[in-house]
Parts: sequence; structure tokens; C-alpha cells
Amino acid sequence: MSPIKNRIRLTLRALLFGVSVLSIVVLWALNSHLKTVVVIEQGNPQRMASQLQIELLRLKDAIHGYVEGAADAQQVVLRFEIAWGSINVMQLGEIAEFTSVIAAEDNPINSLEELFEEVEPGILALASRATSLETDVQTLAVLQDNLSAYDLELRRFTVLMSQAKIERMVEFRNNALMLLKAASYSFAGLMAVVATFAAFLLFDRRESRVTTLRLEKLAEDANAASAAKDKFMSSVSHELRTPLTSIRGAIGILKGSFDKMPAEQVKNIVNIAERNSDRLLTLVNDILDAQRVSENNLKLKLETADISEIVRTAVEDCEAFAEQMNVTYRIATDDSALMVRVDKSRISQVVCNLLSNAAKYSKPQDEIIVRAFSSGGMVTVEVEDHGIGIAESEHANIFTRFHQVNPGETSGSKSSGLGLSISKELIELHGGEISFTSVFGQGSTFRFSLKAE
Ligand code: ADP
Repeated sequence: MSPIKNRIRLTLRALLFGVSVLSIVVLWALNSHLKTVVVIEQGNPQRMASQLQIELLRLKDAIHGYVEGAADAQQVVLRFEIAWGSINVMQLGEIAEFTSVIAAEDNPINSLEELFEEVEPGILALASRATSLETDVQTLAVLQDNLSAYDLELRRFTVLMSQAKIERMVEFRNNALMLLKAASYSFAGLMAVVATFAAFLLFDRRESRVTTLRLEKLAEDANAASAAKDKFMSSVSHELRTPLTSIRGAIGILKGSFDKMPAEQVKNIVNIAERNSDRLLTLVNDILDAQRVSENNLKLKLETADISEIVRTAVEDCEAFAEQMNVTYRIATDDSALMVRVDKSRISQVVCNLLSNAAKYSKPQDEIIVRAFSSGGMVTVEVEDHGIGIAESEHANIFTRFHQVNPGETSGSKSSGLGLSISKELIELHGGEISFTSVFGQGSTFRFSLKAE
């Protein structure tokens, strides 16, 4: 995997981790605020404080009634215990925590608790009639005085609790809003990171599919190349064996009985051997050329040249072969220079190949017409014959290596089935195009075009 992709992956992971941590922190903070609100709502310290205030008033009333003789000691004890219960509730768990935070230094509940602890034995003694009425009245007067002192303090405490409640609720609302905002941002962030991750994965998958396809194509190409190589090897062996067998045969005949043979027959056999050696040489040269072209090993020596000149020289070079084939060439081109940038020897090789093909596949006495002209910025060379032509079904394979329409039927020795494929590759190497038109039984015209200089 590329380093840039690795970096993107790491960044995405870090982002995912960061956003997850942020979400957890936000949820945790929201939860702890919620807890406080639950304490305020369910425990309601303000309501409890005012309830305690009422219970103290009732206790005071009961004491008053007892002193006046309107109530009995049991009522005082009962009221005392109810008030004591209220104090205890406020001194328990989360409510106690809350009140100790709100009224940290001046919490009346603590001193009230101390007072109740102090007077508790005296109050309990009321019920058991363990003390005299005078002592009881004294104890109760002290308690009553002390309780009156708490009236104001408890009211202040209740107000404090209700203020704290309002403050906490407002604070909670603000924090909740802020946290909700943070939560929605974290969620959006999370979604964005997940979406990017998903896109990245999809992209990765697509890329790996493309790579697989590319590898499959490479494997296919490699198989095709190997098959082509096998075919090439068997074709080459076959093509080389035919002239070699012929030469070997000629040498065998001469070795066995050349002294008993008439001179004319010896000459014929030597001619056969010579023709086949020529064919072998052509074949080996063509194979080497084809190999060089297919391995991109062929270096063109480009120079500006007149194509009419190249055509004229090629025709001269092929003249002897044409004579052998009993045909003639006619150059039907004007004298104007047609400049192109080419490797002269390679273009001349292509022209010679077209000329020799035309000679090979023409009928005796035929005239082959060679043209060179320029049109639309291109220079074209055409070789027209009136020979056997090429059947429509063969057109697609004409430029294929070793393809011969009727192998062994040509009268010439210059035949390998490689000429046209090499010509095509050479012309394409020059950036040009090669093509042909042919009518079976009437003749063919092969042409190639190159960019004019
Ligand atoms: P070869 O060396 O066999 O001529 P080429 O590659 O030059 O090989 O040509 C391939 C085949 O194309 C030939 O075997 C022949 O059948 C056909 N061909 C090429 N030129 C002509 C032409 N001018 N007329 C008819 N057939 C041709």
C-alpha cells in the first residue's frame, strides 16, 4: 500500500478515536448533570426544609399545649420524633451531600441535630413520667426558645435551597444544551469519519478489483505471448527445414553421382541448391528483422529523404527478380521531390517487399505499376499488380506473421510469410500506415503513407 494511503488510514483512525473519546466525555458529563437534577427533583431539599419548618412549628404547638395542660406528653414526644425523623432524612445520602455543598459553613440542620440529641433524653422522660412536671416545663421552655431561634434560620435555609435549585436547573439546562450541541457535533464528526472510512474502503476495493483485472490481463497477455512464441518456433523450424532439406538433397545427389551425371543436370541441381540457400538467407534475415522489431530493438536512422528516389532505387534493385518472374515494373510518378523523414534502408526494404510480392503473385508478362504521390500532408507509395489477388476471407490475416495464403504455390524463392508483417511494423514504427485493396483473381494494390516533411 502506498505511504500516502497509510497516512490517510492512520489519520482516519486517530480521528475516529478522538471523536469516540469526545462522545464518551460528553455522555459522561451529561449523565453526572442528570444525576444532580434527579437529586434536586426527587429529593427536593427545599420542600424537605419547609416540611421540617412545619414539623418544628407543630412540635412547638404541642409543647405549648402540654405546658398549658391542653395536650398530653405523648403528643409532644410524637411531634418530637416526627421532627427528628425529618432532620434525619435531610442528613442522609445525596440530600445531605447537596445541602452540605449549598450551606457548607452555616448549615442549621447540623446544629438542630445536635440540639435534638441534647434534649432527646428529657423528651423521652416526658413519656415515661420519670421527671417532675416542673423539670419537664423547664426542659420544654429551653427547647421552645431554641426552636424559635431556628424559625428565621430555617426560613433562610429554605430560601437558599430554592435558590440553589433554580440555579442548578438553569445550570443544567445550559450545560445540557451545550452538551447536546457537543454531542451533535461529535455525532456529525463520527458520521463524517465513518463515511470517509467507508468511501476509502470502497475506493480500496475498486482499486484492488482494477489491480486484479490488470493482473488477469497480464496473465492473459503472458499466455498469449507464450502461445505466439510456441507458434513462432514451430513455424520457423518448419520454414527452415524445407529449403534445408532441399539443399541437403541436392548435395546428397551430387556427392553420390555428380561424375556420372551430364553437366546440364549437375547445373540444374546446383541451381536448386542455390535457390534454396537464397530462400534460407531471406528467411533468416526476415526472422532476425521480425525479432528485432517485436523486441523494440530496431533503431531507426532517421534522415530527410525523397521517397521518389527511394522508390526508384528499390525498383532497380528488384528488376532482376522481376525478370526472373517474367514481369515488369513501371514507375508512374512525376519527378517532383516528395520529402519524408525516414530510415532510408528500412523504407526501401518495405518497398522491395511490396515489389517482390507483386512480382511473385502476378501472371507472366504482367506490368506492375508503382506510384508515389503526396496528398493532405501525407506521402503515399502504391504498388499495383494484376495478379492472383487475395480472397476476401484472407484479408484479415495478410499482415499476420508466417501467414501464407497458399504456401509453396509461389514460383519465387523469396517467401517466408514474414515480409508483410515486418513491413507493417516498420511503417508503424515511422508513424505511418499500411493497407491494401485486392480483388480475388484480378489483382492487388498495396500502399503505405508517411507524414510529408
Ligand atoms: P511471403 O513471403 O509469403 O510473400 P508476405 O508476408 O510478404 O509473405 O505475404 C503474406 C501472404 O500474403 C503471401 O503468402 C500471399 O499469400 C499474400 N500476398 C502478399 N502480397 C500479395 C499480392 N501482391 N498478391 C496476392 N497475394 C499476396
